[in-house]
This record gives sequence, structure tokens and C-alpha cells, in this order.
Amino acid sequence: MSQPIYDRVALIGLGLIASSMFWAMKRGGLAGEVTGYARSQATRDKAREIGLCDRVCDSASEAAEGADLVVLCVPVGAMGGVAKEIAPVLKPGATISDVGSVKRSVIRAVAPHLPDDVHFVPAHPLAGTEHSGPESGFAELYDNRWCIIVPADETTDHDAVRRLETLWQGMGANTDEMDADHHDLVLAVTSHAPHLIAYTMVGVADDLRRVTDSEVIKYSAAGFRDFTRIAASDPTMWRDVFLNNKDATLEILGRFTEELFALQRAIRTGDGDQLFDYFTRTRDIRRGIIEAGQDTDAPDFGRGAKKP
Ligand code: NAP
Repeated sequence: MSQPIYDRVALIGLGLIASSMFWAMKRGGLAGEVTGYARSQATRDKAREIGLCDRVCDSASEAAEGADLVVLCVPVGAMGGVAKEIAPVLKPGATISDVGSVKRSVIRAVAPHLPDDVHFVPAHPLAGTEHSGPESGFAELYDNRWCIIVPADETTDHDAVRRLETLWQGMGANTDEMDADHHDLVLAVTSHAPHLIAYTMVGVADDLRRVTDSEVIKYSAAGFRDFTRIAASDPTMWRDVFLNNKDATLEILGRFTEELFALQRAIRTGDGDQLFDYFTRTRDIRRGIIEAGQDTDAPDFGRGAKKP
């Protein structure tokens, strides 16, 4: 086993992202002791039962005290409150990070609470599933995925940034650095707006009384099934994402609506060339994602043939 990158790591919040971090850190021998805390007794009990974390604590402060790295793994809207609570016990020289899906609002909410002698290095792993909770994590979640490191400002300590990058690389991820505002715009395009569209599409199908429930389910392979998977994502997490990445999401949704109207018009006027050219361009984007190793080109997303 290699030398740990941090002697003590604290994970605050014990859901999909934190539990995957724990298993990935254990797999790579990247941390000495890992402490953990979650808000509810039920989650803490479950974590103890399944051996998630070396020590599960009954308060965030107890988990964070003495840690060399504290990672906030709670919904974006809860980050500020947790930071305020743990600030008094943070070890001088420690690194505080988070995994929130939005970066500017997390920096705004967390930074004012932190003492001057800790390093604040926000991060966002671009990996997830539609599952949540302490039992949903697995060691391979971050393998060959990206983790974007977003140093809180230009004064952030380079060694602290590099050390955190080394941890994420040890957990299997590729790392990149980005400015918070740019991160939020990129994620609005690649993740936040697509989630909202999936939520909407599933809502539309639910509203459409002419299509019976059984037909929606029976014929869901026709594209709709992938929307339902995305739309099953955690409601608290996604509520917080939209409330905290308002401007970028609204900007992208504005553009989306314009494009949708253009396609709607092409359908109405029978402009097949426009539709063909558009779909050709979008197919190239899909090919680019596969070439970049970010998805499989197996038919049906690698699910394999299943009998209806
Ligand atoms: P999750 O599975 O729902 O877990 C969230 C955890 O946070 C739970 O353990 C919950 O405790 C705890 N929590 C909630 N509010 C808290 C509070 N006020 N104090 C202490 N603990 C609290 O969520 P997740 O998917 O791991 O997401 C965590 C973070 O990662 C979010 O900020 C999200 O934006 C980000 N992220 C998610 C994904 C994804 O695809 N899921 C991908 C990248 C980044 P209880 O169980 O006791 O309620």
C-alpha cells in the first residue's frame, strides 16, 4: 500500500459522493483514518453497519476536528451552515474542500466562515448515478471521470491544490482546474439544463392523459427511459442546484428555447434539410463523447439486449 496522501480525512454528509470517495480512498490506501458524519441518525447507523468510514461521529465538528482534509459532501444549500458549524474546530493548515455541483454560490456561502489558517479548495467530481444515500457508493465511481478543482481565489496555496488533485487522481479521476463562474456555465450546459429538460419531459408524459401509464412504461425504450433515469435523481440535490446556479441555467435554457422553436418551425414548414443538418451536427457531438472515453458506444448504452 502506498503512503497516504492525508493522515486524517473527514467526510461531512454520507451519500453517494462521500461513500464512493471513502471506498475509493480505501482501495488506493490514500487516507489514514476517515471520519464521517451525516445529519440523520438513520444514515449514521447505516454507515456504521456497512463499515462506511473508520469512525462515524455524532456531530460534524467531532468528525472535522483534527482532520487534514475536510470534504463537505452535503447538498449545495447546506454547505454554508456546515462550514459555520465546523469552522471553530478546524486544524490550522488543514484543507477544506467540497463536492458541490455548483461552485460560485458554495464559495460565497463557505469562505466567509473559514479561519485564515486553512486552505479552501472547492472541487466537483463529474460522476454520479441517480441513486443516493450511504449504500449507493462504490469505489469505481470516479474511474476515468473528471474532477474539476476550483481554487476559491488566486491566493489559494498551490501545494494544497496539488495535494487535493493527487487525492482525486488516486481515486481514479482526471483533474482539471477551472474558474468558478466558468465551471457553473459549463455545468449548466452539460448537466443542469439537461436534467431540467429530463424532469420536464417526464412531467409531460405524466400529464398526458391520452397515453396511458402502461403505454409509457411498456414503450419506454424509445428514448423516454433515459429521461426517466435522469429524472429520478435526488430532489433535494437538484432543487439546490437550480436555486444556486440560477443565472447560468437561465442563460442556457433561453438558448435552448430558441433552438427548440427553430426546430419546431422546421417541422411545421417541412424543412427536412434543416432537421437533417441539425441531427448530423448533434451526432458528431455524441461521437466526440465516445472518443473521449466518457461513454460506451455499445448499442443501447451497453445495457445489452433484454426481452420486452
Ligand atoms: P446524497 O446521496 O443525497 O447524500 C447527501 C448527504 O448529505 C446525506 O448523507 C445527508 O444526510 C447529508 N446532509 C444533508 N444535509 C445535511 C446537513 N445539513 N448536515 C449534514 N449532513 C447533511 O447526495 P450526493 O449525491 O452524495 O450529493 C452530495 C453533494 O455532491 C451535493 O452537493 C451534490 O451537488 C454533489 N454532487 C452530486 C453528484 C450526483 O450525481 N449525485 C455528482 C457530483 C456532485 P442524511 O442522509 O442524514 O439526510
